[in-house]
Amino acid sequence: MASQRQIHVGGVPIGGGAPVAVQTMTKTETADLQATMAQIRRVAEAGADIVRCAVPRDEDVEALKTIVRESPIPIIADIHFNYTLALKAIDAGAHCIRLNPGNIGGPDKVALVAEKARAAGVPIRIGVNSGSLPRHLHALERENSVEALVAAAVEFVELMESLDFTDFKVSIKSTNVPNTIASNRLLSERIPYPLHLGITEAGTKWSGSLKSSVGLGTLLADGIGDTIRISLSTFHAEEEVKVAWEILKALQLRDRGPVLIACPTCGRLQFDMDTVVAEIERRLEAYADPIEVAVLGCAVNGIGEASHADFGITGAKNEGLIFSRGRALRKVPQEQLVDTLFAEIDKYVKAGKRVAVDAGEAAKGAAWLEAIEAENAGEMTPERLAAAEKAAAAAEAAAEARLDETVSPTAGRRFTRS
Ligand code: SF4
Repeated sequence: MASQRQIHVGGVPIGGGAPVAVQTMTKTETADLQATMAQIRRVAEAGADIVRCAVPRDEDVEALKTIVRESPIPIIADIHFNYTLALKAIDAGAHCIRLNPGNIGGPDKVALVAEKARAAGVPIRIGVNSGSLPRHLHALERENSVEALVAAAVEFVELMESLDFTDFKVSIKSTNVPNTIASNRLLSERIPYPLHLGITEAGTKWSGSLKSSVGLGTLLADGIGDTIRISLSTFHAEEEVKVAWEILKALQLRDRGPVLIACPTCGRLQFDMDTVVAEIERRLEAYADPIEVAVLGCAVNGIGEASHADFGITGAKNEGLIFSRGRALRKVPQEQLVDTLFAEIDKYVKAGKRVAVDAGEAAKGAAWLEAIEAENAGEMTPERLAAAEKAAAAAEAAAEARLDETVSPTAGRRFTRS
């Protein structure tokens, strides 16, 4: 169930219908001001809405004062064990405090932090991890780890409510993807507060991205989750941000920058698509508009399912075609495909998102494409198979609809089936 409450971290609304916010965490020593600020600027540029910094020592609190002043995005201070650091981080101007009420020294220490946070108007993120549940829940954890995680989170929520503090969001995280999904689903039914989603210690860029996509994607598709963080074992926190955005874009929850679509390639491939796709992806990072760009490994199918793309390329016989929204734009030698594609995209952006068509070049490109399609008319490609299956399913559905007495029109009917 989607959250009903909304909080604000700096100027960023979280929960209660706000767009899902992208978070990450700096991996520098927070006290190393120069390195930390450089990383914060990189993650902000990559699209982070909020960033968390670890605050394990007084030196980090000192640095935090400058960081919150200079950061282009709100800062969450990550506190473990030492409640006095939470109090100091609030004084330093942190936009939010992340703590685990179970390891901060008891309810009276939590009360002190809540009191100061309330006075400063600073929200708190309550974090519960599968590795650090309170001792009285260990037996339940062995029996039903999902119930134990949710019980811990609900206990902490009740503690905060008893302190008359409701300006918080909650995260329950586990390294186990099914447990993360099940526990967040259950928790979303039990509390109205915003939820932060993440898979703890997800792994390397490859496996961690996949685990996070499965776990967070499943929850987000159900409308659960208000902020996300992808935890990857890389120093480059901006990579976490890029993965988070790809998940949100794939679910069409938020838009940011271009969308690249590419065929998976097969034995009909006509150019070095691996290199070309990687280069296009890299060059597209410089564009802010949500332009959709398609890369097809051969022109056997024509433009096919990429006909909706703003721009695309395909190739055959040492030549290639630039196309736009289902129409040929121009034919070029294959080695010029990428540069010409970007020249067309630049013209489009400059013209206020209008595609410039040179009629002569477009006609030459269309004729070239027609010839390739005609030459390969009998080929059963993956795309043609999919199109044939789709057409067959549509025909079957139409036939069923025609035979359905309850939905077919009856006006003027002379006989009724018994
Ligand atoms: S047939 Fe389809 S999958 Fe194979 S190279 Fe051509 S466009 Fe790509």
